[in-house]
Amino acid sequence: MILVTEMLAPPGPALLAGSGQRIHSDPLLWNEPERLRALLPEAQALIVRNQTRVTAQLLEAAPNLRVIGRLGVGLDNIDLEAARARGIVVTAGRNANAIAVAEYVLAAMLHAARELTAADASVRAGIWDRVRFGGTELWGRTLGLIGVGEIGRRVAARASAFGMRVIGYDPLLGPYDFAPQEQGIALVSLDEVLEQSDVLSLHVPLLPATRHLINAETLSRMQEHAILINTSRGGIIDEGALLSALNARRPRLAVLDVREIEPPPAGDPLLACPAVLLTPHIAGLTAQAQERTSRLVVSDVLRVLAGEQAIGRVL
Ligand code: NAD
Repeated sequence: MILVTEMLAPPGPALLAGSGQRIHSDPLLWNEPERLRALLPEAQALIVRNQTRVTAQLLEAAPNLRVIGRLGVGLDNIDLEAARARGIVVTAGRNANAIAVAEYVLAAMLHAARELTAADASVRAGIWDRVRFGGTELWGRTLGLIGVGEIGRRVAARASAFGMRVIGYDPLLGPYDFAPQEQGIALVSLDEVLEQSDVLSLHVPLLPATRHLINAETLSRMQEHAILINTSRGGIIDEGALLSALNARRPRLAVLDVREIEPPPAGDPLLACPAVLLTPHIAGLTAQAQERTSRLVVSDVLRVLAGEQAIGRVL
């Protein structure tokens, strides 16, 4: 049986229906542990997004599991070591939503530079303020990337087209990783990227080494007028430190698509902070990205069950 525990966009349901496999698909299953547990013994394949906690205990309850399909990129909700120990293949939507996230980052930068929604609200309120809403340009500004992988590079290409200078910090890139340099990204130290960026955009996976990489100390190195954009994972930022930094007006603005707890609890102090722009983890969720992800991951799961190689295999 193929068990789908979260929302699956087209064409995934049709591909599964035509596969001849037994399917159990329920978008709410991730949030119903008892019901999920009862279904696991029969599952040969598990298809999840980022809400299902694929823990060692969950895997123990699924003795027939051969493949996990992750409808997205971040793998922090899957216990990879436990999957590796069992020889379970993990396949993900590698690259499939990178364009969507890159375009979101450009939208966030342009939004911060031109404030169209605030200007619109002001005009509707009867105000015609051509001074307050003059805005700034991206041209000539420095974009700093933390993490220069699939998404970071796509952000760089788009920002370069706007005439931005692009610098990036990625300690895992070696001297023979020429692609970023070919794309005009100058690889620099963490301190340099923090200190020189007018816009700092985060594109690292959530790992022990990246948890709270953005903290009181690293925030204090940013420029006062800088904006911070996080489309990676909420845990990369120490949110308490960010709130203090924003209250002290350094950086000027944070655009957060992802949060440490999703959705944030009622009373979350960042909800009341005017220097933050919040979206509900949508950067990679365009219709096109969902279609690509669904097609790739479902096809990969079916390939593994048929004894073939998965294209997006990560484990
Ligand atoms: P990727 O693996 O292609 O790139 C990640 C880069 O981070 C790699 O180049 C790696 O070398 C680098 N890196 C690892 N540890 C680092 C460290 N300590 N410091 C600096 N760099 C480090 O991944 P990607 O496709 O670019 O995606 C990045 C992350 O974006 C994902 O892990 C996921 O969490 C997140 N994401 C979010 C959304 C969304 O909708 N908001 C969508 C897709 C991906």
